[in-house]
Amino acid sequence: MKFGEDAYINMRVDPVPTVEAELVFVGYGLRVPESQYDDFAGLDTKGKIAVYLTGAPASMSSAVAAHYQSDGQRWTALKNAGMIGAVTIQNPHHMDIPWPRLASSRFQMTMQLADTRLVETTGEQIAVRWNAEHADRLFAGAEHTFDELVSTAEKGKQLPRFPLPGKLKVKTTVKRGEVESQNIAAIFPGSDTKLRGEYVVMSAHIDHLGVGQPINGDTIYNGAMDNASGVASLLEVADHLKEAGVKTKRSILLAAVTGEEKGLLGSRYFAAHPTVPPDKMVADVNVDMFLPLYPLRILTVYGLEESTLGDEVRAIARPMEITIQPDPEPARNIFIRSDQYNFIRNGVPSVLFKFGNEKGSKEAEIEKKWLTERYHAPSDDINQPVDKQAAAEFNIFVERLIERVANEDAKPAWKEKSFFRRYATN
Ligand SMILES: [Zn+2]
Repeated sequence: MKFGEDAYINMRVDPVPTVEAELVFVGYGLRVPESQYDDFAGLDTKGKIAVYLTGAPASMSSAVAAHYQSDGQRWTALKNAGMIGAVTIQNPHHMDIPWPRLASSRFQMTMQLADTRLVETTGEQIAVRWNAEHADRLFAGAEHTFDELVSTAEKGKQLPRFPLPGKLKVKTTVKRGEVESQNIAAIFPGSDTKLRGEYVVMSAHIDHLGVGQPINGDTIYNGAMDNASGVASLLEVADHLKEAGVKTKRSILLAAVTGEEKGLLGSRYFAAHPTVPPDKMVADVNVDMFLPLYPLRILTVYGLEESTLGDEVRAIARPMEITIQPDPEPARNIFIRSDQYNFIRNGVPSVLFKFGNEKGSKEAEIEKKWLTERYHAPSDDINQPVDKQAAAEFNIFVERLIERVANEDAKPAWKEKSFFRRYATN
């Protein structure tokens, strides 16, 4: 195969020097006990490498599907099936980043936390990402074509699972070193003698991709939307709380976390080793690339149905005439793709936002175009059109939400039927 064109090695997983193994297509590669769903049942998987398509059957809730597709959960499922590695193929209908740009990320240094207890893919020998457009090579001579699988997935159905005729043989050399990067945290102290020992967290990631492969001659990946915009919101909220002399009962913890682009590393560390008692963080409002590209009429809220934070969001949005919607495209897995996920897994109810739009609208087209052209590209810079009025309204919305949660007598709680309630510590 041609490196970079057909496939590349995903260095988020630390590879062994050599590996050679048979391949098995395992559908979505999911094992979800609570849905009695198992892509590995009845398959001969021992010592083999899994090939899977990203996504989940439509019968699974978006939060559950997202959770089980996280790196750690996925590896647990593969490991339990005796598998040694994985080849991931993204569903071509739900790709945010075109393949050439995705594949060029292989030139970027990857990172893992120095604390190995926080590394979730230990034991995985190899992780490969395969170009969906070249997937036919992988399925040559197999029971089903790749196109058949994608159209089954698009219908929301379970995928067939079968061995592939090919074998994967990989040799790798890894250069390792150490770097240091800081999380930055600040506290806005609460005024209530009883409640100020509790914290409403607002988080935003401070890192982006740095210097990388040139696109149109530009090597600097600025990350204006992803996520200088979120950090700007955090600073605006902090500034306004102070300047306007706002009093909140609970304290507010402002966390600018690092290493998001390297696999949510800074927030994983922070959630595991917070600067306040872990069980005193009552909520996380995370702001990452909210995309103020057009007026704020619809706001997508990830985690909307999971906790009472969703009710608070609705209460704030109503008088602002913002329509609130849940995740319209669960296949993109956004719920696990930003820092809130590490708070969720430590029991903290969380939400994340993105400007929403109606299907087929002009706004939907603007968003799609932004993702295709600017997302994780050097052109995510300050020379792009931004709806500053809308961004300002979003900041007001976020601040009102944080203040409301900080002042409410009861702290946020997971909904009875939320899958993520299992992580709640109290
Ligand atoms: Zn990003």
